[in-house]
Amino acid sequence: MEFDPTVNHSYAVGRRDYSQKVAYFYDPDIGSYYYGPGHPMKPQRIRMAHSLILSYGLYKHMDVFRPHDAGHVELAQFHDSEYVNFLSEITVDNFKMYGGRLNRFNLSQTDDCPVFDGLFEFQSSCAGATIDSAMQLNHRNCDIAVNWSGGLHHAKRSEAAGFCYVNDIVLGILELLKYHARVMYIDIDVHHGDGVEEAFYLSHRVMTVSFHKYGEFFPGTGDVVDVGAGAGRYYAVNVPLDDGITDEMYVTLYKQIIQRCVDVYRPEAIVLQCGADSITGDRLGNFNMTTKGHGACVQWTKSLGIPLIILGGGGYTIRNVARAWVYETAVALGKHEDIDNRVPVNEYYEYFGPHYNLHLEPDPTSGNKNSEAYVQQIKTKIFKHLAQLEHAPSVQFSRVPADFFTPAVAPEEDEDEIDQYTVEWEGGGLADIYEMMIPHRLRRANVDDYDDRDQSMKHLEIAKGHTDLIVNGD
Ligand SMILES: [Zn+2]
Repeated sequence: MEFDPTVNHSYAVGRRDYSQKVAYFYDPDIGSYYYGPGHPMKPQRIRMAHSLILSYGLYKHMDVFRPHDAGHVELAQFHDSEYVNFLSEITVDNFKMYGGRLNRFNLSQTDDCPVFDGLFEFQSSCAGATIDSAMQLNHRNCDIAVNWSGGLHHAKRSEAAGFCYVNDIVLGILELLKYHARVMYIDIDVHHGDGVEEAFYLSHRVMTVSFHKYGEFFPGTGDVVDVGAGAGRYYAVNVPLDDGITDEMYVTLYKQIIQRCVDVYRPEAIVLQCGADSITGDRLGNFNMTTKGHGACVQWTKSLGIPLIILGGGGYTIRNVARAWVYETAVALGKHEDIDNRVPVNEYYEYFGPHYNLHLEPDPTSGNKNSEAYVQQIKTKIFKHLAQLEHAPSVQFSRVPADFFTPAVAPEEDEDEIDQYTVEWEGGGLADIYEMMIPHRLRRANVDDYDDRDQSMKHLEIAKGHTDLIVNGD
């Protein structure tokens, strides 16, 4: 695309694909956390992806950071303080004493969100890495930040949901909003990005765009008619899809919709949640995309040249999650065309048998339930909604709060501090954002009716005792 100087591109030069500086966040302890026998969420997959990143030599081309653990004050920027306290106190030894509060915060030993050893440390690390990613982008230390432990898009302000307890994405976006007027959130997980959408449903500071399976599927939200409310009306975009969608259909639709959103909204930063449960052969998802199709969405988003955070998310056939995320790390680095389709020897080599290829083939037996006519119809509706947004909203002059990691300041007591954090620039600040954030449970009617996850859990329960064999080896 040729750069048109008459268009006010806040993101500078339009389409480009030269190598961008990448920061990568990885906590070496992350793979040791364990949700419990039979549970499909396996943090080990992050360590597997990392192992491939090492064995492919990709680490040499990016800055590798160990993230900090987000503390209570940071987590409470979005989460209810009482909920954060609860998460920090509860252990496998004492949870029985919490009785009703377990229920209230949606934790349960037999359901999606169990109490497990190191739960709080695990979530603090995931959130710390996403906040660190945002700070690196804010300070222009990188063009792209990658955190495969992040992307926990179902967590609500005071409630765990769908294997997520702390919403690292909302926290990262809040950090970006200190410096950026408009942030776009894109979600290619097979599940609706409900926690992030809900947090910013009333705000025009964040446009959320989620592509997901819709209809009798967790979490039950994300219809095309759900567009945001109040000041946030038309700033939530939902692309409801059905089983079996192919690379070609998905990637075409993705490019068309995201291009239109970017043209209308002109985001200054993008957060891309790359849940790998939208890839063929996932234990919970039923899309038929390959690693190449999933990665093409990342590549195309990168080519917009807008500061970008790339996060993980779902993904329950863990060898394929590792495949997808190492490939997408290579995409971020512009090295995806050089990457060998033979998986190099690594700590988890035997998981990648029998073919030991990086890339996956689509499942020829999976029918695509999305017709061309249906996809066209969805696209037309979304474009109609976006047409309501003629101009990107401007953000009024506002004070930029301190980064999470700067020493504590009390600006309201210190005029010099106020000056220091007041910027004569309309690009960011959080002055208005908290007014627009809403308590959760905005639209949660009937979500309990959707039991696909429960069925998966039951299936795995039956297989208990052979869990590793089944989950890892099929
Ligand atoms: Zn998911």
